[in-house]
Amino acid sequence: PGEQLPHDPSKKNLVILGSGWGATSLLNTLDTTEFNVYVISPRNYFLFTPLLPSVAVGTLGPRSVIQPTRYVTRHKARQVAVIEAAATDVDPVNKTVTFSDTSEVQGLVSSTTLKFDYLVYAVGAETQTFNIPGVRENACFMKELDDAEKMQRRFLDCLESAAFPGQSQEEQKRLLHMVVVGGGPTGVELSGEIHDFLEEDLRSWYPELANNVRITLVEALPSVLPSFSKQLIDYTESTFKEAKIDILTKTMVKEIKEKSVILQGPDGVKREVPCGMVVWAAGNTLRKVTKDLMAKLPEHQTNRRGLSVDEYLRLLGSDKSIFALGDCTATSYAPTAQVASQQGAYLAKILNKVARRDHLLHELTQIQVQLASLPEGTPESAELLKQKERLSKELVKAEKLKPFKYSHQGSLAYIGSEKAIADLPFSSGGNLAVGGVATYLFWRSAYLSKCFSLRNRTLVASDWIKVKLFGRDVSRES
Ligand code: FAD
Ligand code: NAD
Repeated sequence: PGEQLPHDPSKKNLVILGSGWGATSLLNTLDTTEFNVYVISPRNYFLFTPLLPSVAVGTLGPRSVIQPTRYVTRHKARQVAVIEAAATDVDPVNKTVTFSDTSEVQGLVSSTTLKFDYLVYAVGAETQTFNIPGVRENACFMKELDDAEKMQRRFLDCLESAAFPGQSQEEQKRLLHMVVVGGGPTGVELSGEIHDFLEEDLRSWYPELANNVRITLVEALPSVLPSFSKQLIDYTESTFKEAKIDILTKTMVKEIKEKSVILQGPDGVKREVPCGMVVWAAGNTLRKVTKDLMAKLPEHQTNRRGLSVDEYLRLLGSDKSIFALGDCTATSYAPTAQVASQQGAYLAKILNKVARRDHLLHELTQIQVQLASLPEGTPESAELLKQKERLSKELVKAEKLKPFKYSHQGSLAYIGSEKAIADLPFSSGGNLAVGGVATYLFWRSAYLSKCFSLRNRTLVASDWIKVKLFGRDVSRES
């Protein structure tokens, strides 16, 4: 699109959509010397999602859990263009991506189209609302950084309004009732974090309110955390019971109003429950741009959960030039950061091989042209034939791709009260289910070592120390 981008006409255009777990892991490992690389994403940073609930209650600062994408790309051997924009259309036949600047400030050009030779599609997913009335208008989400900041403001606003002079006891109770919808890992971790805030800070900052704070976790299925082992589900449920977090299972949220939620319990009866804040963590759905792409390949893209890919992460129905990974795909794996990051690292290796193959094909074509212009049997043509044979052998190797294989490292979740749960698989096939304070310490160190840069590790560790020393900041930014 512009001369300022690192375009070399002799190299192929590799366009990467997204700057999340899949795309960032790919960028970390990719050899950028072989392509003109463009990263297009509406956010110019990577978000460390496992720590997002900690931001929502002020344990961590928002800047501690993000890393600018340019921190990764600036260390690459060849310049990478980072474009802050959202892809609005992918044309798999003409191989183009159209993207728009969706931010507040825009220049004279805010939408354009780029041709790709290879496309990595890693746009993630968005929050599923099931079109339940009032969700978008009245609930907070827990997916993006903005969501966590919005929830923190709403939570503190509820506290301050409850502390307003003359507030009736009933209204105070409503304002201090926090409802979390979705008993998956996001909802469980968030409930635990809200509880920690209550115990560690609210009791000292708002002693008159603390006893009226209630946390309710609503889950449609018979238990929370269905993907964890039974023992850990029981452990979580008993920890929540002690922490006075109410779990309502087999209960569906039917509507969210400004000051209440409508719940339908196992008896089928609907009831209205007053509350001050609702956080919606009911899972993922596909983005519009993904649904549109699927509609362009109707024969191959029939799975409503997401994009179908082959074992090399190539989009079914495309000509092997489009790869898709992470939460926008429908595979046998759960939509987790672990899967997306392993897929990203795998794809970087595949693309390095693809570049090598393209290189060899180019050299072989040139040899073929030279051979055609030479008489047979000359020493030059004999030498070229030797070269051709060697390169052909290398080409066969470069075309041999290993399929993607996921290696599950275990599932970890923080459940509040300085406790975490972990389902750790053994290579021998067994499973270790552990929960408690030691697991919590393991959880913290595991996340610290996984935080991408030393900068983020330092920021997260210093936030944790600050909270231990001074407590969480309860000032409400408007
Ligand atoms: P994402 O990381 O969501 O990245 C998608 C990227 O695409 C983003 O940069 C986005 O801005 C960009 N994008 C969006 N629209 C467009 C567009 N139109 N064009 C271009 N780019 C676009 N998983 C775990 O394994 N362990 C955990 O502990 C864990 N904790 C979590 C906690 C929370 C609160 C949440 C919400 C999720 C958690 N997950 C966890 C799940 C994990 O975050 C996702 O599975 C992971 O982010 C998927 O990676 P991805 O690259 O597919 O998508
Ligand atoms: P999820 O899909 O795992 O859970 C959402 C839950 O909401 C489901 O159990 C569903 O039954 C419930 N639900 C949906 N609609 C409802 C309604 N109307 N009323 C009541 N309940 C309703 O979503 P998530 O927790 O956001 O997780 C998304 C993905 O991210 C998962 O793959 C998860 O494993 C991963 N993740 C992992 C971790 C971790 O490992 N620590 C943390 C967060 C997320």
